[in-house]
Amino acid sequence: MNKGTDLTRITQNSTLGALPRLELASLPTPLMPAHRLSAAVRGPAIWLKRDDLTGFALGGNKVRKLEFLAADALRQDADTFVTGGGPQSNHVRTTMAVAASLGMRGVAVCYGTPPEQVQGNHLLDVLLGAQVRFTGDPNRSNLDKHIEQEAAGLAREGHKPYVIGRGGASALGCVGYVVAASELIQQLQAEGLAPQSIFLATGSCGTHAGLLLGLKLLQARIQVYGVTVSRPRDECETRIRMLMEETAALLGATVSINTDDIVVDDGYIGGGYGIPTPEAITATRLLARTEAVFLDHVYTAKAMACLLDKVKQGTFEPDGSVVFLHTGGSPAIFARPDIFIGDEM
Ligand SMILES: *Cc1c(COP(=O)(O)O)cnc(C)c1O
Repeated sequence: MNKGTDLTRITQNSTLGALPRLELASLPTPLMPAHRLSAAVRGPAIWLKRDDLTGFALGGNKVRKLEFLAADALRQDADTFVTGGGPQSNHVRTTMAVAASLGMRGVAVCYGTPPEQVQGNHLLDVLLGAQVRFTGDPNRSNLDKHIEQEAAGLAREGHKPYVIGRGGASALGCVGYVVAASELIQQLQAEGLAPQSIFLATGSCGTHAGLLLGLKLLQARIQVYGVTVSRPRDECETRIRMLMEETAALLGATVSINTDDIVVDDGYIGGGYGIPTPEAITATRLLARTEAVFLDHVYTAKAMACLLDKVKQGTFEPDGSVVFLHTGGSPAIFARPDIFIGDEM
């Protein structure tokens, strides 16, 4: 490993190397040039970091977080994973997959009422043998409370639940992306790339926080540009800072975070979480037709729509490069064929 990419030297007491980790992902994920996309938008060199290809149970960013969370659950002798989200949650799907693969019980707490059809991620949860429970409460922000209640009930029945909050956005989950930062830096060095920014979709903020912390610890000067798909910018910035501080503390590292380190754009949410925007649908078609890469309308397509807007606005040096972190999510498109059918570009 190159000197500059070894995080265990940087974290004071090498907590990183000592943290239990369950190998779930196929790593490193590819870093690929998107030549045809770059040409189509007459932009800088756009590179795709393919975390949609983390491999485990259809992949995505949550697999990296779960490597550390699941190992912790095993260490605590848990027999049940409890988490939650919407029926199309990628985090729920991958958590239920970890439960199945470890021979443990998986309980998914979903907000709202059961959808008419079981499809996309929800279908995968059912296939994985998860117990999917709907709260009847449409408010997403109450979900963590419902997850806790479910876990308390399971404990009363004699189970040993391991609770993972929405999105796996805890300090331990963030460690997965601290490690990913080191992996990405090695790939950038190997390609001789010095990208201006890394774009990604931001939801529960753990991916953004972990990646930014990892890059800072490695003294890599690359902007992390988060495109929020749900929470307003201020709320994301506060959460990202808090998660970075908690994760640094967990790793025994010190980090000073400047206000302009944390960059979040809330201009691409559209009608709200999960509601597709016309630009997101256009971006999904464009990626499929230029690179044969599938985005999703909830997360990655909104982040890509932002990146493409920035290209149009001339934000990047024409001979520079930019990285798009593809965080996965494509199973969700199978739940919404209606929004993708039609050919208008
Ligand atoms: C969860 C998720 C994100 C956002 O990651 P956070 O760590 O929750 O901010 C982005 N893309 C996809 C496909 C996801 O499933």
